Amino acid sequence: ESQLNPNYTFENFLEGDSNRLARNAAIAVANKPGGTSFNPLLIFGGVGLGKTHLAHAIGVDIKDKYPEKTVLYISAEKFTQQYIDSVKKNNRNDFIHFYQIIDVLIIDDAQFFSGKSGTQDVFFHIFNHLHQNGKQVILTSDKAPVDMQDIEQRLLSRFKWGLSAELQSPDFETRVSILENKLYRDGVEMPDEIIEYVAKHIKSNVRELEGAIISLIAQSSFNKKEITINLAKDIVEKFVKNTKREVSIDYIQKVVSDYFQMDVSTLQSKTRKRHIVQARQLAMFFAKKYTKASLASIGSQIGQRDHATVLHACKTVDNLSSTDKQFRKYVEDLSKKLTL
Ligand code: ADP
Ligand code: MG
Repeated sequence: ESQLNPNYTFENFLEGDSNRLARNAAIAVANKPGGTSFNPLLIFGGVGLGKTHLAHAIGVDIKDKYPEKTVLYISAEKFTQQYIDSVKKNNRNDFIHFYQIIDVLIIDDAQFFSGKSGTQDVFFHIFNHLHQNGKQVILTSDKAPVDMQDIEQRLLSRFKWGLSAELQSPDFETRVSILENKLYRDGVEMPDEIIEYVAKHIKSNVRELEGAIISLIAQSSFNKKEITINLAKDIVEKFVKNTKREVSIDYIQKVVSDYFQMDVSTLQSKTRKRHIVQARQLAMFFAKKYTKASLASIGSQIGQRDHATVLHACKTVDNLSSTDKQFRKYVEDLSKKLTL
């Protein structure tokens, strides 16, 4: 009925710096659905970082604590399909009514609403009704509201009413904990060396991280292969082959600071000294170019700036590279260092 997956719990969602804010906000919402300022709660982040898991965990926990509440999890895609069907069958009002009586509405992958104005319109009305009646709305998306495209302004402004919390790629320790937890739940033992090897090499997608460990388990139990580093290497290679190597924003800041012989903290500082401002703008430009991070996320990682500052930095670098020869050389040198 509620479409919730009981395996996606808070307990199974390992906490780390990369997800602490989103996880804690999710827990707060589950404790007091509709009763916090996190309404809507919007969880955003890249593929395989746990958005769907966390969205379900909220619903599962609410059903547990408040069995009388109606909780509904639905993907934005399925919601859109239902809406289109309702229009065809002439029961758009029934569709709207169905959603307006829900206590907790969870919409996964809201970026799917992009460009679909009819669905956005109906969702806008449902959202307003729920919100006015103190009902909880939870959304996930692959982007922060500021970076969403082809979503009507009035809907975007609603998305920003509550809290937008980002899921970032987990750090090494968190990746190890996720793997250990998975193995523990499956009752499988694996040498630390292997777990660490996998965690070290698969960085930006928890689904791939789990996929690699599942392959390893399958190899050892079905093919009776001993789990060695070499086997782990083969499997990890298969998983990372198609995902282009992504440089991290930390790495970019380090390379740019080294190049200009300054500390990362100087690059991030509030100073307006020209050469430092330029270094900071170059770091932002390369973060935009070489990572999938949103403008907002880049800004927050490079000295707590906002997305407009990052956008401005990217434009400035573009302009300067076409007008200033020395500056163009900086860009070329740094490109080489970063893509090596
Ligand atoms: P998304 O919806 O962001 O693409 P999912 O929620 O489908 O990602 O997560 C992908 C897989 O990774 C799922 O199996 C999920 O359980 C797992 N996962 C993601 N983050 C964590 C975490 N912090 N702890 C444990 N498992 C996680
Ligand atoms: Mg998902």
